Amino acid sequence: MHTFEFIRPPDPAAAIAAAAQSKTAQQGADVRFMGGGTTLIDLMKLNVETPNRVLDINRLPFDKIEPMADGGLKIGATVRNSDLAYHAEVQRNYSVLSQALLQGASAQIRNMATVGGNLLQRTRCVYFRDTAMPCNKREPGSGCPAITGHNRTLAILGASDHCIATNPSDMCVAMAALEATVHIQGPKGTRSVAFGDFHLLPGNTPQRETVLEPGDLITHVTLPPPVSGSKQLYLKLRDRASYEFALASTAVVLTIAGGNIRSARIALGGVGTKPWRSPEAEAALTGKPANDATFRQAGEAAMQNAKAQTENRFKIELAKRCLTHALRTAAAS
Ligand SMILES: Cc1cc2nc3c(=O)[nH]c(=O)nc-3n(C[C@H](O)[C@H](O)[C@H](O)COP(=O)(O)OP(=O)(O)OC[C@H]3O[C@@H](n4cnc5c(N)ncnc54)[C@H](O)[C@@H]3O)c2cc1C
Ligand code: SF4
Repeated sequence: MHTFEFIRPPDPAAAIAAAAQSKTAQQGADVRFMGGGTTLIDLMKLNVETPNRVLDINRLPFDKIEPMADGGLKIGATVRNSDLAYHAEVQRNYSVLSQALLQGASAQIRNMATVGGNLLQRTRCVYFRDTAMPCNKREPGSGCPAITGHNRTLAILGASDHCIATNPSDMCVAMAALEATVHIQGPKGTRSVAFGDFHLLPGNTPQRETVLEPGDLITHVTLPPPVSGSKQLYLKLRDRASYEFALASTAVVLTIAGGNIRSARIALGGVGTKPWRSPEAEAALTGKPANDATFRQAGEAAMQNAKAQTENRFKIELAKRCLTHALRTAAAS
């Protein structure tokens, strides 16, 4: 691992001023924030990330989970994944988020990993993690060997000719379905970004994964007031039962009245280049009877724009079944 300077900024302003000296935004930048370090240090050991300065943000005042006046929830950026998953209000009213967090990584990693870091965790594409290989995301313009190579775990939604990498987060799938908002403090002040707008599609610039600019620090995430009477479920399908990333997953937030679906918020994981909200599935569900035929139609709708690569065609049917089964289970709960 290359040498770097380790700094503990005393307050957010000092952290932002230091990070703003970087030429690029957080991912790939030469000055980096560090939450739990479970992505960053991992990639530094592989020489995939080579920052000159690492700013430990764990002493900054972002470690609280607090109720908001409107009935929503404010979650600090350095809150640990475990603390969020076991928080009473999250388990009671945002259970899809708790379920998603508890199906990610291992207990030890969840005890370290922070909300801010989870939002910015990087793809598990094998070429991205191997500096002997070209990769447009790691080295823009070098090529994408995954398109003709090992792509079994990679994306079927949102890919481009330059990158087909999957976003690996479970937490983010639940946050997409819960319509979270990401709050950012940067050199130009504070701003809030709707969850669906925070991550970017790869397009021609796969190295740019979010809307963050140099110096931008995620301070917290907010959840809107809970959807009253909603049935919530996170279903994750993977190669083994624990300590594995999703091949396909789904977060479902449903309300049902008189046997009909009143509202549906659906997001998918393991299949998209970003946490994937599915308006197509939501439209196929809303106002329809809560039965198997409707649930399967939602699965078909969610996959209508899916494009398989050489090794991952199975994911299209897998994702349809994942969503169908999650809807059936949630509706019956
Ligand atoms: C073996 C293993 C298995 C895993 N399995 C899963 C899994 O099944 N599902 C899953 O979802 N995840 C999984 N993960 C990923 C894990 O969830 C992430 O590594 C973790 O959430 C990252 O959080 P962190 O705080 O450690 O991030 P860090 O490593 O500290 O940071 C990650 C990135 O975010 C930036 N950053 C951190 N905080 C901020 C902030 N507040 N503002 C701006 N930038 C910030 C850093 O600069 C860095 O670029 C796994 C990880 C490992 C190592
Ligand atoms: S899919 Fe993306 S991350 Fe993987 S090799 Fe291609 S450019 Fe790199």
